[in-house]
Amino acid sequence: MRDRFGRLISYLRLSITDRCDFRCRYCLPRSHRDFLTPREWLDPDELARITRVFAGLGVSHVRLTGGEPLLRTDIADIAQRLSTLPGIDELSLSTNASQLSKSAQRLKAAGISRLNISLDSLDAARFRDITGGDLARVLRGIDAALAAGFAPIKVNMVVMRGVNDDEIDAMVDFCLDKGLALRFIETMPVGHGGQQAQRHYLPLGEVEARLKRRFRLSPAAMHGSGPARYLQVDDSALRIGFITPQSQHFCDTCNRVRMSASGTLYLCLGQDDNVELGQLLRAGADDAQLRTAIVDAIARKPQRHDFLGAPSAVLRPMSALGG
Ligand code: SAM
Ligand code: SF4
Repeated sequence: MRDRFGRLISYLRLSITDRCDFRCRYCLPRSHRDFLTPREWLDPDELARITRVFAGLGVSHVRLTGGEPLLRTDIADIAQRLSTLPGIDELSLSTNASQLSKSAQRLKAAGISRLNISLDSLDAARFRDITGGDLARVLRGIDAALAAGFAPIKVNMVVMRGVNDDEIDAMVDFCLDKGLALRFIETMPVGHGGQQAQRHYLPLGEVEARLKRRFRLSPAAMHGSGPARYLQVDDSALRIGFITPQSQHFCDTCNRVRMSASGTLYLCLGQDDNVELGQLLRAGADDAQLRTAIVDAIARKPQRHDFLGAPSAVLRPMSALGG
């Protein structure tokens, strides 16, 4: 499945809830009220049905995200259903890890192959200030994921000037020590929280320059479907990824589309073009009709985001689509 710019679409990110137990400042403002009702969330059957159609069109990697995907009580059922679909080679999950200590083993058994975990600070008070969450719980979740045998686990840190950029070294040491991969992410002006966070925007070139003073960094390969550029740290196993949507956009190699918990298919994180696949499904569309709707939508995939030209364009919070 190629779009009109020749990009092969092989990766589907499924937001399975827009709710979250955290309120990360750059993502989900405390004032946000416009949540879907759980009845609007696609159920495991519906998710499996749509994913099967995508798999028939060449999608081979699915990521579960949110909101916080582990808030769904049927998460293991969803994972089991999607991981066993023909054509789906990889099922990954993005989580804040707050619920991971009790579910890591179950998720592994259900076929989740890789985890990305958000971690913006190693200081409990600061962590609470940025996310509203409990750092100790998240760290227990990371340990449980390691014990369950997830590898590699990628830690995602949104780097914000004057907020947590003094913790880059500490985060590198933490990931080296635990055997985790580390990815730095630039803030994106998605939703009100993301737009507010732009005042702390820090181009990651600065972080790379800082790290070069401490380490020898060399280009490295890393498994994944994403836009991160990876570097190896000295001769260690540590890989550091840089996700730079603003300073060096990577839209030319975009291979993905995203679906909201209610089945709205978005063609770009930084634009609003979408198609209501969930409504179509609930109105009784058959697989051929879903397939046609997807192919038509892909033909409309925008060339790139416009975070620089129109930084206020995307009003939905990042939690609606899962990053
Ligand atoms: N709740 C899960 C989590 O936090 O990993 C999954 C959903 S969250 C929206 C996915 C990723 O998006 C997280 O790594 C988060 O840090 C990132 N994110 C959210 N808002 C962002 C923003 N405005 N700019 C950059 N990254 C953002
Ligand atoms: Fe929740 Fe993830 Fe958004 Fe934080 S980044 S508020 S954990 S959805």
